[in-house]
Amino acid sequence: MILCLDKLFLIIISYLKENYIMSTENFEFQAEVGKILNIVANSLYSEKEIFIREYISNASDACDKLRYESLQNRKISNSEELKVLITFSKKTKTINIIDNGIGMEKEELIKSLGTIAKSGTEEFIKKLETNKEKNIDQIGKFGVGFYSGFMVADKISVLSRKAGSKTSWKWTSDGKGGFNLKEDASHKIGTKVTLKLKDDADEFLESIRLSNVIKKYSDHINYPVSLLDEDDKGGKEEKINQSLALWTKNKNDLKKEDYENFYTQSGLNYDKPWKIFHNKNEGTINFTNLIFIPSEKPFDLLHADKKINIKLYVKKVFITDNCESLVPKYLRFLVGIIDSEDISLNISREMLQNDPVLSKIKNNIVKKVLLELEKESKKNKEEYGKFWENFGSTLKEGIHEDFTNKESILKLSMFHSSSQKSWTTLNEYVERMPESQKEIYYISGENKENLMKSPQMENFIKNNVEVLFFTDSIDEFWLPNIDNFNNFKFKSVTKGDIDIKQSSSNKDNKKNNYKNFEKLIAYLKSFYGKKVKDVKVSSRLTNSPVCFVADDSSMDIHLENILKKHKHLNEISAKILEINPEHNLIKYLNKIDTTDKKNLSKVVTISNLLLDQAKLLEGIPLDDSKMFCDKLNDLILESIK
Ligand code: ADP
Repeated sequence: MILCLDKLFLIIISYLKENYIMSTENFEFQAEVGKILNIVANSLYSEKEIFIREYISNASDACDKLRYESLQNRKISNSEELKVLITFSKKTKTINIIDNGIGMEKEELIKSLGTIAKSGTEEFIKKLETNKEKNIDQIGKFGVGFYSGFMVADKISVLSRKAGSKTSWKWTSDGKGGFNLKEDASHKIGTKVTLKLKDDADEFLESIRLSNVIKKYSDHINYPVSLLDEDDKGGKEEKINQSLALWTKNKNDLKKEDYENFYTQSGLNYDKPWKIFHNKNEGTINFTNLIFIPSEKPFDLLHADKKINIKLYVKKVFITDNCESLVPKYLRFLVGIIDSEDISLNISREMLQNDPVLSKIKNNIVKKVLLELEKESKKNKEEYGKFWENFGSTLKEGIHEDFTNKESILKLSMFHSSSQKSWTTLNEYVERMPESQKEIYYISGENKENLMKSPQMENFIKNNVEVLFFTDSIDEFWLPNIDNFNNFKFKSVTKGDIDIKQSSSNKDNKKNNYKNFEKLIAYLKSFYGKKVKDVKVSSRLTNSPVCFVADDSSMDIHLENILKKHKHLNEISAKILEINPEHNLIKYLNKIDTTDKKNLSKVVTISNLLLDQAKLLEGIPLDDSKMFCDKLNDLILESIK
C-alpha cells in the first residue's frame, strides 16, 4: 500500500512538473532567422537531403567539443564511445539525429537556434530572396545549417543536455514565428534532434535512401555514424560510414576524389579544391598537414571577423578550429587540417597562441604554400591567374605584414598593366622595360578601365610606356615598405616629375613651352592661392587641359582619397596642378591678357572650371558644385546662341 502511494505521489509530481513547474517559455525568432525559415520552408530545392549533412556535421562538432572539454576539465567525462545515431520511423514519420557530444544549455539553445551571429548572412538572405543565389546547398557556410531541416519537416524538436549539467532542455518549433523551451528531465546526454517529416518528404523514411545519403556525407566524419529503423523490433544499429581520418593515410593510397569528398564532407568548403597540400613532416617537429586552396572565393574573405578555417588536431583528437597562430592572416583562404604529435593533448586554446611548436608549424606551412604557388605560377599561368583573381589581393597583404617573406610574395604578385591583356608579374614587366627606363611605373585606382582614361596616363599611352595598375587598396600599404624590385624603384605616374624618354626634339619643345607659359603660371598660382600647391607645365598630358599630381614626398592621390573616405583624414591636401601647353584652352588662356578688366570674368570662369575638372578626374569633391553647374550651363548656352 505504501509503495502504491509512493508511486502515485511520483506520478503526481511528474505531472505537476511537466505542466506547471517546468512551464513552457515562448520565444520569437530573430528577424533574420524568420527570413531564412521562410525561404527554406518554401524552397523547391531538389537536393533537400543536405539537411542530413548539416545535422551530422553539428553532431560531429558536438562530439569534437566534448572530447576537447574532457581533456581540459576532469569533471566532464567522456567515458562512452562518441558517436552519431540516426533513427527513423515510418509509423511516427520522424527522423532522430542523436549524438552523445557536448550538448547545449538553455541559453545556448536560445542563442544558437534562434539568432544568427555570422556576418554575411544578411547578404546571403538577400540573394536568396531575390533569387540570385540558387544555392541553398551553401546554407552551412553561413552558420544557419540547422534551419535546413524545415525544408523537410514541419516540426523540429531538440532535446539537449550540456555535459556536466544536471538539467536538460527541449526546444520545439514549427519553423514559423518562434520556438518554445521547457525543461525535460528525461534526456541524459548529448543532443537528440527530432524531425517530424512533411508529407512530401517520405523518401527520407526509406532505409536505403537514408543510408545512401549518410554514406555520401559522412564517410569522413571522425565518429561512427549508424542507422536504426525504430519500427523493426529486432533491428540493430548499422554503422554506415568509414570514419576515416584521411590525413593519417598514405598519400599514395589516396585518389583525387578521396580528397574532394573529404573537403566537402568535413565542411571545409563546398566548391572543388584548387590545390591540395598533403604532407607528413618529420624532423624537429612532427606534423601532418592536409591543406586546401579553394577554387572559389569565400563570401567572407574580406570580412574583418573571417575565421581561419584550419582545424588543429593532436594525435587525431580535435583541439580547435579557431587558432589564429596556425597560419598568417594573409593566407586566410587556406582550409584544412593540421595534426601534430608534438603538442600536449592537455594544452588549452589560450596557451596554444604562444606555443613555439605552432609558430614553427606556421613558418613551415607558409614556406610550403609560397613555394607551391611559385611552381604553379611558372607551370600554368592561366590556372595561376584564376587563383590570383580570387586570392591575390589577400595574399598581397603579406608584402605589408610578413617581413621575412615579402620578397617572395612580391615575386608571386600579378598586376594588370596598360599594355598587357592579362595579368603580368613584376619580373615580366622588368624584362619588357626598354634599357633607358630606370623605374617601374605604376598608377593606383579603382579599376583598369578608369585608369586607362586617367589624364596622367595620356603621354605614357601615346609613347607606349607600360604602366602597372595597382587596383587593390592594399597596394598603397605595401608600397612604402618596398624600396625596389630587382633594383628598380617604383614610381607613381601621378607623383613628382616624370621623364618619359622621348625624341630630343620633343624635349626641346617642352623647354620652350615652359618659358612661354611663365606668365600664365604666375597668374594661376596667385588666382588659386592655397587651393593648389603649385602650377606646372605638364609632360604627362596630351588630350586633357589639366591634371593633378602630388609631389614626390606627398601621399599618393588615390591613397589620400581612400583615407579620407574612411575618415582617417580630415581633408585632402593641396595638389600640384599641371597644365597641358598643347591644349587649345591653355593656349587661349596664355594668349589673353589676364590683367585686362574686360577679360576678367572669362578668365575667372575658365580658371575655376579647370581646377574643378582636375578635382572631378581624381574623385575629389568640388568646393561649390552648384557654381560649377551654373558656369557650365552658361557656357553651353553661349555656345548654342
Ligand atoms: P553552424 O553549425 O554552422 O554553426 P547551425 O545552424 O547548423 O550552424 O548550428 C548553430 C549552432 O547550434 C551550432 O554552432 C552549435 O553551437 C549549435 N548546435 C547545433 N546542433 C548541435 C548539436 N547536435 N550539439 C550541440 N550544439 C549544436
